[in-house]
Amino acid sequence: MFNVSVDNYGITVDNESKKISLDPNKQPNSDFIFISHAHTDHLYKNVREYSNKIITSKITHKIAMHRGYKYGDTYEKHGFKLLDTGHILGSNGLLIEDDLYYTGDISIRKRAFMNPAVIPQAKILIIESTFGHADYIFPRFESTIHKTNLIISEMYHQGIPVILLGYTLGKAQILTNVFRHWKPLIVHDSIHEMNKLYSEFGVDMYNYVTFSDAEKNNMLSSYKPWLLIAPLGSCKNGFLKYIKNKYGALSIGFSGWAVKPYYKFALGLDYCLPLSDHCDYRDLITVIKRCSPEKIYTFHGFAEHFAGDLRKMGFDASPLIYSQGKRNTSEKLDAFFDKSNS
Ligand SMILES: [Zn+2]
Ligand SMILES: [Zn+2]
Repeated sequence: MFNVSVDNYGITVDNESKKISLDPNKQPNSDFIFISHAHTDHLYKNVREYSNKIITSKITHKIAMHRGYKYGDTYEKHGFKLLDTGHILGSNGLLIEDDLYYTGDISIRKRAFMNPAVIPQAKILIIESTFGHADYIFPRFESTIHKTNLIISEMYHQGIPVILLGYTLGKAQILTNVFRHWKPLIVHDSIHEMNKLYSEFGVDMYNYVTFSDAEKNNMLSSYKPWLLIAPLGSCKNGFLKYIKNKYGALSIGFSGWAVKPYYKFALGLDYCLPLSDHCDYRDLITVIKRCSPEKIYTFHGFAEHFAGDLRKMGFDASPLIYSQGKRNTSEKLDAFFDKSNS
């Protein structure tokens, strides 16, 4: 049986034979390090080179290296299984000895080229709970896309350009893929970098112009309207303001947090639509039922709240939290903004 614990290094599981750190945030003293995916809140800098100790997918390894993280060779061994979690390209959960399953970040909805997560059965389940609160129920992927197409169409009729904003890695590639029929399509250069990696792994990212090329060729003022895909971080760093002032564009952000109307105002967006690479509350419960664990640990977001809900439903659930003090809305907003840069 595995022992599960959390400290300032992150989550650790161990039994008599091995100790495994799950998405640690500093160099742990363990036999193996598992890296579920290449979002910056799951990677850590300054890793010491322990060859053959890192367990991760080839794609995560490649994206992490591209983002400046230096990891040694990846290691897979009998007893470890990596399963697709459908969160971003290359994201995996870790099944250890068919007994314990760690989800990393997970989505069970098909979204464009992203497939739903594969869910194993396991006695112990460590599950993310970013949206582990009943307020967070997302509409269907298709209905958000439909709504967006209607808004873009309306704006195009009036000659108004539109900016779509999402996380640089993951969300932005889905946006590039799904809205590719709108021309001219312009993609922010930082997103283009990630798009290139996705196409190396077989995802067709189609024809578009990068933002720097479009500005150089004066495309933005002479070919109105246009569609621009930009990082959600643009809301904070002045880029969105610059584009809005200069070209009178309309902005639409995409995030699971958009379920709450105040996020739109906090980010200064015209629209913010719920579209997430995570499970919503109901999806999380679906994952749990399919896994049918005897013991559940929750982490990320509403970990404590979600574990409480699960106990009311009759599950044996505990949150994995290492922190002093309580979470509040402003902290959550900060975390949200930090993630928007990833
Ligand atoms: Zn993530
Ligand atoms: Zn995460």
